[in-house]
Amino acid sequence: MLHTPSWSWPTLHDAQRSVLLEVLMHGSRSRAELAHRTGMSRASLSRLSRDLVDLGFVTEGEAQARPGRGRPSETLRVRADAAQFAGFKLTGDALYAAVVDLSATVIDTVEHPLPSREIDDVVDLIGRVLEEMKPAHPRISAVGVCLAGDVVGAEGHRRIVGSHFLGWENVPLADLVRARTGLATEIGNDVQSLTAAHHWFGAGKGASSLALIGLGAGIGAGLVVGDEPIRGAHGHPGKVGHLRVSDSGPTCDRGHVGCVSAFVTIPAVERALEGLPFEEILRRASEGDEECSVVVGAALRALGVVIANLVSIVDIEKVIITGEGLPIAAASPGLLNAAVAEALDPAAEAPPIDLHPFQFADYAWAAAVSAVRLVL
Ligand SMILES: [Zn+2]
Repeated sequence: MLHTPSWSWPTLHDAQRSVLLEVLMHGSRSRAELAHRTGMSRASLSRLSRDLVDLGFVTEGEAQARPGRGRPSETLRVRADAAQFAGFKLTGDALYAAVVDLSATVIDTVEHPLPSREIDDVVDLIGRVLEEMKPAHPRISAVGVCLAGDVVGAEGHRRIVGSHFLGWENVPLADLVRARTGLATEIGNDVQSLTAAHHWFGAGKGASSLALIGLGAGIGAGLVVGDEPIRGAHGHPGKVGHLRVSDSGPTCDRGHVGCVSAFVTIPAVERALEGLPFEEILRRASEGDEECSVVVGAALRALGVVIANLVSIVDIEKVIITGEGLPIAAASPGLLNAAVAEALDPAAEAPPIDLHPFQFADYAWAAAVSAVRLVL
């Protein structure tokens, strides 16, 4: 552990940043790989490596032998304890915090009930939690916050347009948290933050275009296209919840006939077979119960249409499905893939679908990763 009370994240130039990012995302990289991936000369890389070693971000590991390809190539390894980042997920009544190290691994978590939904109270709670965490994590370099809501604005100054659960409208949260903590702060919609976090450090690593579908009480999607998280004009891309998937069928809570939310969310599945919890519906469907199988089949077909629409528009390399409603998608991957294929242009490529286990703490991790992305 490095103890330097006055330490702050240094200003890096672009070449230093791109080499550091390569090493962060992959844990270690040989200089030969780095030269290949960044297009830099060995001489430039030697200089940049020295910079990053001097800054304490990487160590030079053992040389890897490269059979038949000249002299061994030295390896750069991330020093995970060189910096930390704090992430906060806000719900309508609680704050979930996570600290990650420089390799984006969670090293600490804490939960607190919100004292109220007043903006000042919530910002102050974030500040107090951060102060409590600082002695154990003295190199917290930036802060990320995510929540269910629409977020717009320039990097480092994003503001919340609206958050239903908190009853907030037009809140300059990044500026408020930065003023309270003294640290660079990134704010994001929770599903979009989770998508961006998986893109760099999780299930989406290596894919330059991907979609993440969050399935639970509702359904929403996050998108990364050409290695850039899509933010949209109004802070809410990927609002797929009310896409129409059928001309008939149940109605959603807005009264739309045959819309996605009427088929594939947890409440929709439960509403279809009144009185049964969704786990029980899935269990019965897996045992061949006809009524339950019909409901699960309709949910998977609706999910398939959503995925096919996203793929048709963006040409996605990979789809990640996660959230409390994941068991719906996992009920029959075969049926889901068939539903995607049926709704997709025959010439389009159906991407692999990754059913990713979900824990609520993933959102705080994603918020912390958004802080990593902010400084890199
Ligand atoms: Zn609807």
